[in-house]
Amino acid sequence: MLSSPETQLSSEDVDAVVQAAGHAASSSSKDQSQIRQPQDALAEIESIEQLIHDSESDPADTISIPEHPAVSLIGDDSRVQTSPCIACHSTSARRLYSIEGVSEELVECESCGLGSLFPMPAAERIQSFYPAEYYGEPTAKFEPLVEYGVRLGAKMRVESLVGDLPSGSKVLDIGCGRGVMLRALLDLGHEAHGVEIAPEAASGADPRAQIRIAPELAKAGYEENSFDAVIMWHVLEHLPHPEQTLAEIRRILRPGGRLILAVPNFGSLQSQRTANDWFHLDLPRHLYHFTPETLQRLLACNEFHYESVRHLAMLQNSFGWLQSILNRVSGTPRNSLYSLLHRGGEHPVVQSLSRWQRAKLKFGYWLGLPIATAVSLFEAAAGQGGTITVTATLGRATTPNAVVTSCERASEQAVAASPA
Ligand SMILES: [Zn+2]
Repeated sequence: MLSSPETQLSSEDVDAVVQAAGHAASSSSKDQSQIRQPQDALAEIESIEQLIHDSESDPADTISIPEHPAVSLIGDDSRVQTSPCIACHSTSARRLYSIEGVSEELVECESCGLGSLFPMPAAERIQSFYPAEYYGEPTAKFEPLVEYGVRLGAKMRVESLVGDLPSGSKVLDIGCGRGVMLRALLDLGHEAHGVEIAPEAASGADPRAQIRIAPELAKAGYEENSFDAVIMWHVLEHLPHPEQTLAEIRRILRPGGRLILAVPNFGSLQSQRTANDWFHLDLPRHLYHFTPETLQRLLACNEFHYESVRHLAMLQNSFGWLQSILNRVSGTPRNSLYSLLHRGGEHPVVQSLSRWQRAKLKFGYWLGLPIATAVSLFEAAAGQGGTITVTATLGRATTPNAVVTSCERASEQAVAASPA
């Protein structure tokens, strides 16, 4: 994604001001038979002033957003009215966390527990959440040892998720990035397809993979019923309209095709225990925060049959514990260890660390990793993984389950409640 950290006036803001000003000018030059009431003119001037004020006054829109801003508990048990929840259609949410330098907050649906940013930012603003350093080097993202672990993990993961499909199956990786999973798919003999939002994000991918660049899945131009499997690896939570992406996947996946989704588990032990210090919150880039239940509900609403959920993801889950605990106790800026493990000392957060802080983080890493690994095994056994991988197939369940029924009921209620 292209970075625009110093977002100024958006083009829509400018257009709106110009249009309003033009409208006021043309109104005032109409013939005398259409004399306007003073209160109308006043209201119009006020609306123009408001537009200019709105465009200029939000400091969060005009300053650079840190890559890992501090996250704080709101803690006053207050509620907000939201647009209907994408999983259950409720319109009431609890305010949970505020984010440094960002006007949006993390709220939790009062009915189903789905977390989301509120208000949901527009596409242009979401782009400003991704600084250039977010993607790292195209060919290697982490220190060599960690990078080796990432590649080995991708290979094992792909084998376990789509290794049973016949060789030559068409598999699409949405948000394929630099193609770590595409390479593993190719090695398995599958036809590997990827889609990314910007060419920079996909640079360094294996040239045998077929990659399309599109601002959203629906604009990538894939044919109906064309894929045997679709993978979204830690992507769904970044999308402002996951329900629309699921609808498009439903169109391009063949009937009975497989959908694999990995997301952080907002209901996990590490999320609950470390709260605002939880590494996998990744605010403000994570726009939605799913639990296994909310994801199951969302899938059922989109005609996917939920097959299984895995709670074991050693790298993500053990690192989640480690960084979350360090966020709480180390006195270093949020996610410093993660930044430190990124390649290159150029990272602004790494540059701000003292030698002592760096040593402390590295010591914490090597000492804490075996403990975090053991805890991750325990949480997986307890069905509480810090991240989860869900497998679903396209098509309604043969026997409607409670989730499908409640989804239909919620949809009917929402339709009945909406104005004609
Ligand atoms: Zn909800």
